[in-house]
Amino acid sequence: MSTRPVFVTKPHLPSLEDFIPYLRQIWDSKNLTNGGPFHHQLEDALCEYLGVKHISLFTNGTLALLTALQALRITGEVITTPYSFIATSHALLWNGIKPVFVDVSPVTLNIDPAKIEAAITPQTTAIMPVHCYGHPCDIADIQKIADNYNLKVIYDAAHAFGVKDMQGSILNHGDLSALSFHATKVFNTFEGGAIVCHDEKTKVRIDQLKNFGHVGEVSVVAPGINGKMSEFNAALGLLQLQSIDLAIQRRREIDAEYRLRLANIKGITCLNESGETQANYSYFPILVGPDYPITRDDLYQSLKDIDIHPRRYFFPLISEFPMYRSLPSAHKDNLPVAMRASRQILCLPIYPDMEAETLEEITEFIASRKATN
Ligand SMILES: *Cc1c(COP(=O)(O)O)cnc(C)c1O
Repeated sequence: MSTRPVFVTKPHLPSLEDFIPYLRQIWDSKNLTNGGPFHHQLEDALCEYLGVKHISLFTNGTLALLTALQALRITGEVITTPYSFIATSHALLWNGIKPVFVDVSPVTLNIDPAKIEAAITPQTTAIMPVHCYGHPCDIADIQKIADNYNLKVIYDAAHAFGVKDMQGSILNHGDLSALSFHATKVFNTFEGGAIVCHDEKTKVRIDQLKNFGHVGEVSVVAPGINGKMSEFNAALGLLQLQSIDLAIQRRREIDAEYRLRLANIKGITCLNESGETQANYSYFPILVGPDYPITRDDLYQSLKDIDIHPRRYFFPLISEFPMYRSLPSAHKDNLPVAMRASRQILCLPIYPDMEAETLEEITEFIASRKATN
């Protein structure tokens, strides 16, 4: 039996020895935050690595989302997906914006562009899609609708670090993209996040907003927030960036091995990539269909019973939580595809140093389940 417990992910960490010189520099300089040298270095390094023009670092992905909405002065209603982590919609509520849920595509589980238009009202100001599992949304169709109705597009790109399509980084699409560098994500700074934007003026506004709206010592130009990333987190990010390609490569191998071993199990479907030329293999989602001998929840529980902990991302849907469920767009009849997916989805463990035996054990376990009655 392989190591236990097995969680859905295991944070990727550099060697502690390698981090010591960075810490020493912070201790020596006493430069702890407010745009210190590591902050600037990480912004530059990320622009280069990701292939984007401008990036602003944040304390976490949720503050990046909140600030992205502020930066573009989004109000009224925003069209979004119920099939995501709760922070996507919470960022709207914190801005006093009404989320309008639109169903997802059964193939990608990303927002279904064909259903967006019907949800637009005179109050709609933006679309906030999610590149779920790092698989790109239907970017061209979303942009066409946004252009027709003069709407902004803010991507929740928390899963999409390093993902590229034919045009390069998918973070270059839409008006803004928000990233998360939380411990559970592909690239982590323990806690952290960022906004990607495409012009200097927007970058200046975002940087003001994450520092209380301050411009200089005595001038405040906007009701900003404290969203600044500290030097500790930025230094960690610089170090993590050195091994990110290797980490993604390892994920790629694990992803391929899972697909091979799960290919012929009746009732199990692996979610496919959706047009990326470079994926990040951040999650390994499977759908447990009605043809499988036991239910998704029974499979989930029986894996937990042997100390393997997959996650039901995303169950329940955001639209099922108490602060959202009374919205007209939250009704389950409006979201049949997302409802079905949330009842079938299971994200299997995937992380760079996952042992081959662990993967074998998981796939053999899934292959050997029998109906119980
Ligand atoms: C992780 C995540 C967030 C929030 O990011 P934090 O850095 O944890 O605040 C937002 N949206 C999605 C889709 C996420 O997965």
